[in-house]
Amino acid sequence: MNAHVQGCTAGTEIAVDAVRRESGQREVFCGLTGIVWLHRKIQDAFFLVVGSRTCAHLIQSAAGVMIFAEPRFATAIMEEKDLAGLTDANDELDRIVTQLIARRPDIRLLFLVGSCPSEVIKLDLSRAALRLSQKFSPAVRILNYSGSGIETTFTQGEDACLASLVPAAPSGGTGEDQLLIVGSLADVVEDQFVRMFEALGIGKVQFLPPRNSTALPAVGPNTKFLLAQPFLADTARALEDRGAKRLAAPFPLGVEGTTAWLCAAADAFGVAPALFETVTHPYRVRAERALMRYRDQLAGRRIFLFPDSQLEIPLARFLSRELSMQLVEVGTPYLHREHLAEELKLLPAGVALTEGQDVDLQLDRCRSSRPDLVVCGLGLANPLEAEGMTTKWSIELVFTPIQGYEQAADLAELFARPLVRRAKLVA
Ligand code: SF4
Repeated sequence: MNAHVQGCTAGTEIAVDAVRRESGQREVFCGLTGIVWLHRKIQDAFFLVVGSRTCAHLIQSAAGVMIFAEPRFATAIMEEKDLAGLTDANDELDRIVTQLIARRPDIRLLFLVGSCPSEVIKLDLSRAALRLSQKFSPAVRILNYSGSGIETTFTQGEDACLASLVPAAPSGGTGEDQLLIVGSLADVVEDQFVRMFEALGIGKVQFLPPRNSTALPAVGPNTKFLLAQPFLADTARALEDRGAKRLAAPFPLGVEGTTAWLCAAADAFGVAPALFETVTHPYRVRAERALMRYRDQLAGRRIFLFPDSQLEIPLARFLSRELSMQLVEVGTPYLHREHLAEELKLLPAGVALTEGQDVDLQLDRCRSSRPDLVVCGLGLANPLEAEGMTTKWSIELVFTPIQGYEQAADLAELFARPLVRRAKLVA
């Protein structure tokens, strides 16, 4: 099957020693940020952050101060007396959860989300989740995970959340193999993939996270899973602990990545190469045609990616191979060598890869190389723009539907747009 996927197995493996490692000051959002997209995805879940006013402000600003009639996230704010141990934070938490569940009978799944303050006072949210589950089960399932900013990056919040769901998933047994797609995808993208898997004859496909908490996918030795996002190390480990097997593949960004990702599933489920070709060919042709106008705008432009979302390596592969952009430096907060192995093979030889961050050193390298476009977090974008550089916020790439054939041109446009805007400003 790999034979008809250009680049599925080609490429030079990046020597692990060639990766620059940095461990200085970092500029990243914390894992609470994931709530912004996860609460939209799991439609009967509620996220209760146990944190401070800072945590509440972070979520509000990351959510763009969206006004919902009934928001599905909130912060139980720990006051100074809680932090000083003057009150029993557990009693307070039980009271807040009881009130919340009484007021919101639509909640079927409640996440208690840990933060830096709750970790500092060592509030045991796993015990709280167990205690409250006994009280509210079966009407409401209560789980916990940490979104704390200590040593994390913002997409790790999704990893921690999904990993907490795995033990709650029913047993998949050893029957017929089932495909599980792991990682949040926009509903529109999910629907496109469902149609494609159906056309390929790959039975019932399940998703983690599900749109509804009552539809948690079954997991067991008959589960074969494809990661849809590159930042799900803990979730993958939890699935493997339950006997599921990961299908090695690049990530579904761009035409090539999407084809190779689908190809990994098709191989594992014995889809005939001719059928794979028939199903994917029209999509590939259409997507490649849509990419052409962006290739004209982006080819030869030099791009610098700061480590932020953990999407950097698949993005760099797409930008260099499908849009002919030149990679000045590709930073990633963490490099999961196993999950990224198929991506690393597809990067151009000699690419400058950095794992971790020492933000001042990296800024120096960025300034001296004067790239055409910089992909970075919000904290770096404004100062760099003020210095005359053109930037793209990496967080936008997590909020926007970018996976799959039909989104390949939209993904390219996200990189072309800031360059067009800058050109207009200069003209
Ligand atoms: S969890 Fe920590 S890093 Fe995140 S907003 Fe709260 S205090 Fe700040």
